[in-house]
Amino acid sequence: MRPKEIEKNLEEHGGKPAACNTCSDKDCSAAKRKKGESDQDFADRQQLESRLCRIRRKIVILSGKGGVGKSTVAVNIAVALHMAGKRVGLLDIDIHGPSIPTMLGLDGKTLQGEANGLLPIDLDGLKVMSLGFLLPDPDQAVIWRGPMKNGVIKQFLKDVTWGDLDYLVIDSPPGTGDEPLSVCQLIGKLDGSVIVTTPQKVAAVDVRKSITFCRQLHVPVLGVVENMSGFACPKCGEITPIFSTGGGQRIASDMKVPFLGSIPMDVAIAMSGDNGLPFIDHNADSPTAKIMREIVRPLLALEPAAASATITEKIENKENTNMKIAIPLADGKLSAHFGHCERFTLIEVDPAEKKILKREDLEAPPHEPGLLPKWLAERGANLIIAGGMGQRAQNLFCEHGIEVVIGAPAETPENLVSSYLAGTLKSGENVCDH
Ligand code: ADP
Repeated sequence: MRPKEIEKNLEEHGGKPAACNTCSDKDCSAAKRKKGESDQDFADRQQLESRLCRIRRKIVILSGKGGVGKSTVAVNIAVALHMAGKRVGLLDIDIHGPSIPTMLGLDGKTLQGEANGLLPIDLDGLKVMSLGFLLPDPDQAVIWRGPMKNGVIKQFLKDVTWGDLDYLVIDSPPGTGDEPLSVCQLIGKLDGSVIVTTPQKVAAVDVRKSITFCRQLHVPVLGVVENMSGFACPKCGEITPIFSTGGGQRIASDMKVPFLGSIPMDVAIAMSGDNGLPFIDHNADSPTAKIMREIVRPLLALEPAAASATITEKIENKENTNMKIAIPLADGKLSAHFGHCERFTLIEVDPAEKKILKREDLEAPPHEPGLLPKWLAERGANLIIAGGMGQRAQNLFCEHGIEVVIGAPAETPENLVSSYLAGTLKSGENVCDH
């Protein structure tokens, strides 16, 4: 189903989409067809972007695995933002276990369609949309194969008519696989993610993976929430640690992302989830609700579009902030041994003019594991063009805010940078030859 404006646009252009006409911004990415994009893909993207551009802040809630309280946190964040007077949408796109209808007492609700798409359910002003509303029987297992899952996620994102919102809170499928990847890529410019974990040591690996996942997708991590952290006494509210606690805080500090807070295991949270009464609203005076409000406070202060543009986007958007591109050198050309090369060249460029401004050659630092990303970040590098590179090294560059292009040929730095700026750099396979 396409919105009227897209249909009109297609009609006016003989079935071929021209520009999105939901706003007058000529530089909007929805106004331009991407290279190789089919008519249908362009129309779909326009439809999705025309919906999402009316939402000021988009926050995705992630977790390394299921059952840690991701949906509980998503519901309570959305309700808290709504209680603070914001226009909020809550999107449950956890295709394996859409639990938000139950948590909000909306089981059995059916969706209303309108000419432009699907209307979210209105819960006292909070707009709620869940894949659960589309499943005929909540007890029936949903088996969708890989490509089908992505199709369902795309269709769902594109068809919901949110209208104008201050916040969209998205309950993503768990993990760091194809499903959360589709969600993040389809939504595009996310303002950030909240990563939910539990205090056990085994959860630490999942949190690191989720943080790295966000960095690779250039999604700012707004913070980590440690859920089920200690037990809140139902009588006096005192919190007793059960498992070791503080793991979430330690990882957040190690990986230089904010820690938003620890939510205890609270019988009232489980009960309100089962009874369809949002905890933070119906237990507003409890110590746990106070903790939740503290977690939401930085999200309320969030400025729209916190996402920083990548160098590729800066080139596309013609931003005139100079950038530095690092290239490992051997005999004056790109060296495939980026970790063991003797020299690096740093080329300063103007992405708006697609011009090389300056070249600086530097002796490489001593060969120590993990040192290079930090060393290049200190010298202002925004991007590294390399031959081959292992996943761990790529993650380290990501953590230091440096984009990575791999599989580039052994050419001179100037040739590589010029073709990168022109969008013609051929990056082949990741030949990690050491
Ligand atoms: P996920 O979305 O990660 O799969 P859910 O949010 O569905 O996890 O939570 C799983 C179960 O744990 C639900 O029954 C929920 O009510 C309960 N739960 C979540 N957080 C807490 C908590 N802090 N205290 C008590 N029960 C909780």
